[in-house]
Amino acid sequence: MRSVFVLNTGSSSVKYRVVDVETAEVAATGVIDRIGEPGSEARDHRSAIAQILNRFAGLRIDAVGHRIVHGGERFVTATVIDDEVERGIEALAPLAPLHNPPGLLGIRAARAALPELAQVAVFDTAFHAALPEAARRYAIDTELADRHGIRRYGFHGTSYRIVSERAAAFLDRPLGELRMIVLHLGNGASAAAIAGGRSIDTSMGMTPLEGLVMGTRSGDIDPAVLLYLQRNAGLDTDQLDVLLNRHSGILGLSGHIDMRGLTDAIDAGEESARRALDIYLHRLRHYIGAYAAVLGGLDALVFTAGVGENSREVRSGAVEGLEFLGLRIDETANAERSGVARRISASDAPVAILVVPTDEELQIARETAAVLAAR
Ligand code: AMP
Repeated sequence: MRSVFVLNTGSSSVKYRVVDVETAEVAATGVIDRIGEPGSEARDHRSAIAQILNRFAGLRIDAVGHRIVHGGERFVTATVIDDEVERGIEALAPLAPLHNPPGLLGIRAARAALPELAQVAVFDTAFHAALPEAARRYAIDTELADRHGIRRYGFHGTSYRIVSERAAAFLDRPLGELRMIVLHLGNGASAAAIAGGRSIDTSMGMTPLEGLVMGTRSGDIDPAVLLYLQRNAGLDTDQLDVLLNRHSGILGLSGHIDMRGLTDAIDAGEESARRALDIYLHRLRHYIGAYAAVLGGLDALVFTAGVGENSREVRSGAVEGLEFLGLRIDETANAERSGVARRISASDAPVAILVVPTDEELQIARETAAVLAAR
């Protein structure tokens, strides 16, 4: 059990990797996107996966690992897929309408194409499954919430797991004794308070919409805004969904589709771009302060994912004014670039600030191999 085929199936794309879990060596990797659109390589997910398998026909594959976004209350750990598990994931579609249905297409296509191989679902929510009740519950009617599975689940868990382990290894300290805040800042973005390797609070909620300002998602917003827009601006449910998930965040504030576009526009002197970044950073600092309190102190602040690993402006702005928490950045170290874990805090600062590359595909492969080995 060494070579795992990892599939990350989105609504219009399939990302894949074949990886050796012992050496982390990548035998094949790539993406098929714009599935179903004119000119795309694949008319549907099944043909995309068939083409991917053709690309590495000669490679050894021992198992398949699938990234599934929402595990709901039922899937709290990586799970070997059978028909019943497949139905269980299907039943979670209402909680994650944008994310779980494509994951399910990936499972079905891969099981049809590779019926002899064990397949495992690795859930983004699993790392947060044991969130303390006080962090997990929304303050609404308990019975109604329980009946509908309305609670904070949290996401990016696969990333938090590998990044928190890498951070502890970098610091050469046991994960079990560290209090850290990890900021997974990609196109989607979230924060997690991790105590002794366990998630005790996280900014995404029942869905990935809550929390930080993201590429196209609003993050936190007064829920009454939705009621107001329904009553007074004539927006219906689907329009609100599109507004908050696709037309908000950095895009809604500035018209730029991502952080790189935004920072380029700021360099070019664009006022609305600067304002968008200020709002983004204000929310980040808000969560850093909150999670320092939730953790009762802090040993490390860790930046990861596309923005966290690459944007020195965001890292620098996120800790501005937070010296009182022990957060002091070394701007020379912050300006350096490298693909490996590194420290960017001042050498005499009490809290380590780290940049740690995430690798969700490798972690999915490892968890896939681990559950199968434990069978
Ligand atoms: P991810 O979702 O982890 O792939 O991250 C994607 C995000 O990372 C996008 O918002 C990109 O604009 C951002 N990103 C990548 N490289 C840079 C960079 N050098 N500076 C700022 N943002 C970046």
